[in-house]
Amino acid sequence: MIDHRLHGALPLSRRAMLYGIGAGGLTAVLGGCATRAPALRMPSDPAANAAPDLVDLARFDPRLRLDIRYATPANFMGRVLYPLPRAVTQRPVAEALSRVQTRAEAAGYGLLIFDAYRPWRITKMMWDATPPAKREFVADPASGSRHNRGCSIDLSLHRGGIEVEMPSPYDDFTPAAYRSNTAAPAEALAASRMLEDWMVAEGFVPLANEWWHYDWAEWRRYPIMDVPLEAVTAG
Ligand SMILES: [Zn+2]
Repeated sequence: MIDHRLHGALPLSRRAMLYGIGAGGLTAVLGGCATRAPALRMPSDPAANAAPDLVDLARFDPRLRLDIRYATPANFMGRVLYPLPRAVTQRPVAEALSRVQTRAEAAGYGLLIFDAYRPWRITKMMWDATPPAKREFVADPASGSRHNRGCSIDLSLHRGGIEVEMPSPYDDFTPAAYRSNTAAPAEALAASRMLEDWMVAEGFVPLANEWWHYDWAEWRRYPIMDVPLEAVTAG
């Protein structure tokens, strides 16, 4: 569970301070230039009325495989963004994923999780580092990401531990990642559609321009959060 009171003023973790990405560090970076542009603050959604109830996916359902790319340098940013390979979601999202895993297993597959809850500060770092022409693939921190609400999941399939070929690599910021892409191998397109069918059947909404991204249908009920991944107390 996340304490609601923490949302506005998070205690800085030692690691966040070392990274210089805690609230103070961010202000210092943004406010330190000569023009003194106002620091962007984390948005809050007045429609979000549900209390966060985060669960750790690895503990919730050990059948789920994790490949948390942002905890390694093997991601589009080329550096480690998460201090630990952890996947956290709101409880109904985890329950639905577990049902998708059961569907996948019945067909001889399993789910491979790339990312789940993402602290708002990481969304901002990604936005700042992404050229404007590529920003259709990253969430605008001014409105926040559904990942910040613990309601989005980036995932693929594996078969016997081997990652299944999909229409593009994860975080491939090109039209090859679009669900409308028909230029990929037929097996890759079929695998992507199979995953999509299972996810939609359990209450997820696919994102049109990223085959790996799904939103929980009721994402709007949950608040945008900035609790560092290592500080989340998940059930
Ligand atoms: Zn995503």
